Amino acid sequence: MTAISPMPPYALTAPPAPETPVLRGAWVTDHVLVGAGYGGLLAAIALAERGARVMVIDAQELGFGGSGRNHGQCIPVYRYLDPERLPPEGFELLLNSGAGVFDTIRRFDIACEAVQNGTLTAAHTPRTLETTRATHARYARWGKAGGYLDRDGVADWAGTRDYLGGWIHRDGGHLNPLAYVRGLARAAQSLGVKVHTGTPMTGLRRDNGRWIVSIPLGEISAQAVGLTTDIYATAAIPATLRRTVFPLTAYGLASRPLTPEERRQVLPGGTNFGETRHDPMFFRIDTAGRIIGGGLVELRRGRNAEVTAARLTRRLAARWPVLQGLTWDHLWTGRISMAMDQMPSIQRLDDGLWGLTGWSGRGVPTSAALGQALARTMIDPADGARLWPATTPPRIFARHALGLMIQTFRGPLNQLRDRTG
Ligand SMILES: Cc1cc2nc3c(=O)[nH]c(=O)nc-3n(C[C@H](O)[C@H](O)[C@H](O)COP(=O)(O)OP(=O)(O)OC[C@H]3O[C@@H](n4cnc5c(N)ncnc54)[C@H](O)[C@@H]3O)c2cc1C
Repeated sequence: MTAISPMPPYALTAPPAPETPVLRGAWVTDHVLVGAGYGGLLAAIALAERGARVMVIDAQELGFGGSGRNHGQCIPVYRYLDPERLPPEGFELLLNSGAGVFDTIRRFDIACEAVQNGTLTAAHTPRTLETTRATHARYARWGKAGGYLDRDGVADWAGTRDYLGGWIHRDGGHLNPLAYVRGLARAAQSLGVKVHTGTPMTGLRRDNGRWIVSIPLGEISAQAVGLTTDIYATAAIPATLRRTVFPLTAYGLASRPLTPEERRQVLPGGTNFGETRHDPMFFRIDTAGRIIGGGLVELRRGRNAEVTAARLTRRLAARWPVLQGLTWDHLWTGRISMAMDQMPSIQRLDDGLWGLTGWSGRGVPTSAALGQALARTMIDPADGARLWPATTPPRIFARHALGLMIQTFRGPLNQLRDRTG
């Protein structure tokens, strides 16, 4: 096996990052977003579109966090999507979050290999077929009919007859995550937002009713601050926010580009693919023809490149024999922030000080909704609450131990559940 790169393949095809120089000096603005991932940049765009002066700072480069290393799947299907649980406007926004991602990409002409062919969930047992049917029916009631598929239907889209049926959510799709975050930064700049990388927030204090964000070479005075550092937050980010989520480590795996014949046979519909197993196999095929999949890092899977690659090849080849012997070029890892209820949240830390956390592995589509909600909350908390009511930060005790425990036992347990039905 040739050496596997520890970096995702995204930089190979992403357009270069825009200029985002280190910030120096004393600045005065309306709003500061700390963390230039999807959350911070989408909030900045929404604020700038409402006429505010906005600055975004990031400790590292664009895409250093989850936004530059995720699997690039936009899957706008959420357990917590429930009209009883969210205000009507927030429900609509979240329901349309998948469409929101691709609308933003079109609106700002972001070159990020975006493909909106939908997201396919394939059922492997009669019981999960029923669950799939119920999920499809629920989304259909909300106007997202997509398509309910029998075995032949899944075979048409996925190229395998191994599944009993499934459904497609048409708003879903995939993209190059790094190209998307770079494009969002460029879009924000086009609206007058100042974006600065290599500029960590090192301290935060209140002064005459304003917030002062300290940076190594100066400071920024703002009326409101949004902390959008998620699970990549450094120690300068208040612990009250960091403790609202627990960390999991996930890996991504990218194959060599498939041959034209392989592409004809594997996932010809170009959707995202996911199955209903407790230990699911999920992947997409990028525009270069690479299979991109992954999962949570376990004792060996996600750590040992050869074991990880061999297992995924075996699983894929069991459904798509043409993939026998497939080789892999990239294996990388990143951190995911998990909320106890797997629901992202806006945290009210103080007057004019807000945090955004808990994407729980779905930050690509949910940031399209929550970025807007954070922006409106920063301008007017009562207005923001019509979309996504802010909460006071819950505290997760022993969060690192919790993450480690889930990380260690979840995979083997799920494999056992799959074997025992
Ligand atoms: C391997 C992997 C696969 C994933 N796959 C998917 C997927 O397919 N679909 C999906 O929807 N989601 C996926 N996710 C989750 C998704 O990537 C995240 O939810 C999303 O990127 C979070 O965006 P964000 O803007 O909140 O934070 P991030 O993109 O993590 O950005 C936070 C930024 O804050 C900066 N920062 C931290 N501290 C400071 C400080 N003190 N001062 C200034 N800046 C600071 C960091 O440098 C970082 O750039 C995946 C995540 C991983 C790790």
